[in-house]
Amino acid sequence: MKNIDTKCVQAGYQPQKSGDPRILPICQSTTYYYDKPEELASVFDLKTDNYMYSRISNPTVAAFEKKIADLEGGVGALATSSGQAAMLITVLNVCSTGDHIVASSNVYGGTYNLLDVTLRRMGIDTTFIDPDCSENELCAAIKDNTKIVFAETVSNPSVTVLDFDKFAKVCKKKDVLFVVDNTLATPCLCRPLELGANIVTHSTTKYIDGHAVTIGGIIVDGGTYTFQGSKRYPEFDRPDDSYHGIVYTKDCGNAAFITKARVQLMRDLGACQSAQNAFYCNLGTETLHLRMKRHSENALKIAQAVQGHKKIDWVKYPLLPGYQYYDLAKKYLPFGAGGMLSIGLSGGEDSAYQFIRNLKLLKLVTHVADSRSCLLHPASTTHRQLSDAALEACGVPKNLIRISAGIEDGEDIVNDILHALERI
Ligand SMILES: *Cc1c(COP(=O)(O)O)cnc(C)c1O
Repeated sequence: MKNIDTKCVQAGYQPQKSGDPRILPICQSTTYYYDKPEELASVFDLKTDNYMYSRISNPTVAAFEKKIADLEGGVGALATSSGQAAMLITVLNVCSTGDHIVASSNVYGGTYNLLDVTLRRMGIDTTFIDPDCSENELCAAIKDNTKIVFAETVSNPSVTVLDFDKFAKVCKKKDVLFVVDNTLATPCLCRPLELGANIVTHSTTKYIDGHAVTIGGIIVDGGTYTFQGSKRYPEFDRPDDSYHGIVYTKDCGNAAFITKARVQLMRDLGACQSAQNAFYCNLGTETLHLRMKRHSENALKIAQAVQGHKKIDWVKYPLLPGYQYYDLAKKYLPFGAGGMLSIGLSGGEDSAYQFIRNLKLLKLVTHVADSRSCLLHPASTTHRQLSDAALEACGVPKNLIRISAGIEDGEDIVNDILHALERI
């Protein structure tokens, strides 16, 4: 299975013997039977790879994890109850009180809040940097206690494109973990692990589910960071007292990060994905390659149709010629940039509200990246908790409308938008 389109459909679950279900079964069981006590003990010792309890792992969830790990090109994955949980577990897997994170200032509002407020309260400090900063500025932001450099492939909702080469080069030089949220690009359009990222996170709530039916997240380990002998992450080389002395670098090889995340943090925090939800995400992923093409085509159609419109100040879409991040998009997202674009209404917030009221096909919802076209005014909703200064810093002015192009007919979507603009 070489091609990504085939992996979307076939990776993960495979029937093993005659009479097995062809389709991934939903394994609705919390527990797993063992014949001999030594067998179960061996599972707990991580000597035998098998199931013990569904908070740690479950066959349906495992099949979905395998599919996404395969798509991203990682050595393993851990599905979580939400995208937020994926980010939290990623952070806590390497950060303790007193540690530090460097994050792009235009990350998703929920991530910004987690880093800026909740994790700060726990003594984990974040420096937000301008994603367009120079290599030297990025280097200077990384301190001895920095454990993660974090950014999004395509940022939500400011639609900037990550300069992978710049970030990867600095992270490699400083020997710090490079974590990328690939939610809006998906592995069909961009594979961060091939571009120097060590860890990839997703909100599976978005394109992976694709139909807006379930909240979920996933962490993928590229297996590319050498924790063995690392001064920055000594706990990976030391016995874990909470897991009867396991040494992750020794016992788990290049899957040290994802194994620790599962057996230590998922065990303790419990933000696991249910079998039912993993089934939905797995089913969604079977058509991900087809949907991402249509989402991308429709978003570009909308961007081109509204560019230069008298009621619009600006349009941001990565693959729109002339856009500030067009060259980066051409380099890293050559086959499409996903369905999200943002537009700035020339009449400010009032016009933005009027525009929303005038739409018929596009609905106002707190969501992006599902099959139905939708939109949101972030400044009054998802980004409401941010100060005006923080809004500016993360690239979300008050006249910004975030549009998520669905997979309907492109002309129908464009017509709905143009009619709504006319009537402002
Ligand atoms: C939605 C989103 C999240 C948060 O995911 P949830 O599943 O809503 O918890 C994180 N990052 C990005 C880029 C998102 O779009």
